[in-house]
Amino acid sequence: NSLSERDQLVNWHPYTQMQTAPPPIGIVRGEGAVLFAEDGREYIDAVSSWWVNIHGHAHPHIAERVSQQLRTLEHVIFAGFTHAPAVELSERLLKLLPANQAKVFYTDNGSTAVEVALKMALQYWHNQGIPKSKIIALEGSYHGDTFGAMSISERSVFTRPFQQYLFDVEFLPVPVPGQEEAVLAKMEELLTRPDIAAFVFEPLVLGTAGMVMYEPEVLDKLMALCRQKGVIIIADEVMTGFGRTGKRFAADYLTQAPDLMCFSKGITGGTMALGVTTCTHQLYASFLSEDKTKALFHGHSYTANPIACAAALASLDLVEPEDFLQNLDRISAAHAAFALVLKNKPGIKEVRQRGTILAVELEVGATTYFHSLRDQLYQLALENGVLLRPLGNIVYVLPPYCITQAQLNQVYGVLEQMRELVTK
Ligand code: PMP
Repeated sequence: NSLSERDQLVNWHPYTQMQTAPPPIGIVRGEGAVLFAEDGREYIDAVSSWWVNIHGHAHPHIAERVSQQLRTLEHVIFAGFTHAPAVELSERLLKLLPANQAKVFYTDNGSTAVEVALKMALQYWHNQGIPKSKIIALEGSYHGDTFGAMSISERSVFTRPFQQYLFDVEFLPVPVPGQEEAVLAKMEELLTRPDIAAFVFEPLVLGTAGMVMYEPEVLDKLMALCRQKGVIIIADEVMTGFGRTGKRFAADYLTQAPDLMCFSKGITGGTMALGVTTCTHQLYASFLSEDKTKALFHGHSYTANPIACAAALASLDLVEPEDFLQNLDRISAAHAAFALVLKNKPGIKEVRQRGTILAVELEVGATTYFHSLRDQLYQLALENGVLLRPLGNIVYVLPPYCITQAQLNQVYGVLEQMRELVTK
């Protein structure tokens, strides 16, 4: 029996219990931007396996560094112990982040990186005996699948069964172009309340919302308003971090710096699961005390796993050099040129682009068509050797940075076919 058949007897995949979902594809190998399936077919991984494999698959430098680490020290508990991979990773990561970021806390994935940031922000106020507990988040956000992360995410089919267990959040509309002034005014109004603890957001691009984009200038203004009121600023760079927006971090577009930052996905280049929450010295200092009750009681068994840290260090070897940014420019320019071509054609509602992120919103009429559209688009891409992940009528391309122009052209060709499909 094939992997796919055996899999279906035993595995529970994310989101795929719907009867219409196509069976999982058995993948036996990956190299660069390409995934090789058990039936001999090849697919360009145009979404970097959910925005994770930023350097493509099986990068030899990462593989080498990870196997070295595996032979030296595979794990030691991080409570009471430390090791070179974690020390070096924190040192090098902090050098790339806004200057106010001073401490690194290790978790296991994006959701837990966010969860920890929320706990740090809420406990910061608690430790000082100040009753601030309300969080402001952006409408449409996705911050993960744990309860705290779900609470600050858009209430949707993802969160509905758990609604009664989620905490109350103030949702602010996304300050998309044209809405900036209204959103700034709404923020000013919210900030007159005495109980606002923190503002959490996906900077510049809301990924799961459908790559909804807004400008650095308005984010700077929102952050400045929070800063004036002492509200803690939390940037969720789980998707945007490590080059996705065309700079190393979305923070590199901003003049204001967050208090807390969350990372995962691209941090290890898709080799190992790892999450990171960083914070300012001021925030960390509020947890330092003789009084045990002020400590942050949060620690995962695998926290700062040496192999994951080694993978992240090898990935940083590729992210730190100047030519990393030039390569991002190459992909951004290719996306921008294609966006121009596509923009005014029939079947296209909107094309959005920021750096290496391209999102094509297709024009669709009847809602009945809309419901089956996602699967049709997904299949069309697969038939053409491309792995894409349409969300309803929105299709996004977030390729590994090693993708060639020829591979990009193949992906763009599929988008053209999708456009033709909806105009039929
Ligand atoms: N934050 C953002 C912005 C994300 O896009 C995601 C994942 N899509 C998460 C958090 C959660 O990360 P993970 O899936 O690793 O838990």
